[in-house]
Amino acid sequence: MSVASPVVPESHTIEVLDHGFVRLDEAMASDLSVVNAARVSFARRKEEMDDSDHGLIRFLLRQSHGTPFEHNAFRFHIRAPIFIAREWFRHRIGSFNEFSMRYAKATDEFYVPDAEDVRTQVGKPGAYSFEQVEPEVAETTREELRAVYETAYAAYERLVEMGVARELARAVMPVGSYTEFYWTVNARSLMNFVSLRAAETAQREIRRYADACERFLAEEMPVTYQAFVDAGRVAP
Ligand SMILES: Cc1cc2nc3c(=O)[nH]c(=O)nc-3n(C[C@H](O)[C@H](O)[C@H](O)COP(=O)(O)OP(=O)(O)OC[C@H]3O[C@@H](n4cnc5c(N)ncnc54)[C@H](O)[C@@H]3O)c2cc1C
Repeated sequence: MSVASPVVPESHTIEVLDHGFVRLDEAMASDLSVVNAARVSFARRKEEMDDSDHGLIRFLLRQSHGTPFEHNAFRFHIRAPIFIAREWFRHRIGSFNEFSMRYAKATDEFYVPDAEDVRTQVGKPGAYSFEQVEPEVAETTREELRAVYETAYAAYERLVEMGVARELARAVMPVGSYTEFYWTVNARSLMNFVSLRAAETAQREIRRYADACERFLAEEMPVTYQAFVDAGRVAP
């Protein structure tokens, strides 16, 4: 079967869910860029960080001086189920380009949660909690999902083989199918994303992706990241 094959991620990759990943494709990011963006107000520039710069970053974050955190860029390559991408694309401050099911054949990979991730929802809107289901329910859920995916993909292939345009045939594809996209974002917007999507209130699947993005933020901008955490994980 000829399926659009994803670029195989090599380094800087964190695997997420059963077929997904977050790969940091490239970063132009440093704590020093924050410091120099702030100090230009006083016509000052530094080549290296010192203790006073750590304090400055903490001050900027606490006081919601957000713009110095915008002079950097993280370019991520992400593979995620469509229902996660939909949540992700709501984050408008950043740039996206996504795999097109108009131009390429849809992937035959679909999200099937691990048994321990099949949960039930209790409580009311705004205050749900999620509890694990009985093992039989978890297994039935996984089987039902697999059956739907198989049927949907078989229908998709039949339609494409009959000559139906991919842009139309894709209508049968479930939101559990995987998509890929590039996301370029600055640290300020990334902190906002992490703040909202790595939070307990966010859906478990996108949390795993946000956790991966958070690890890259911590790696590239450790002082900024620590200040963000200390400020209660609120983006400036
Ligand atoms: C737990 C959770 C549940 C959600 N449930 C729903 C839901 O049921 N339905 C739904 O539709 N969405 C839902 N969302 C999406 C949510 O409403 C936001 O669209 C999404 O989280 C993006 O957040 P953002 O606007 O802060 O990010 P971005 O779009 O990246 O914006 C970053 C910041 O830029 C500023 N900004 C951006 N655009 C504007 C603008 N047009 N005007 C003024 N300021 C702007 C704001 O300060 C904003 O915080 C949910 C999000 C979460 C985390």
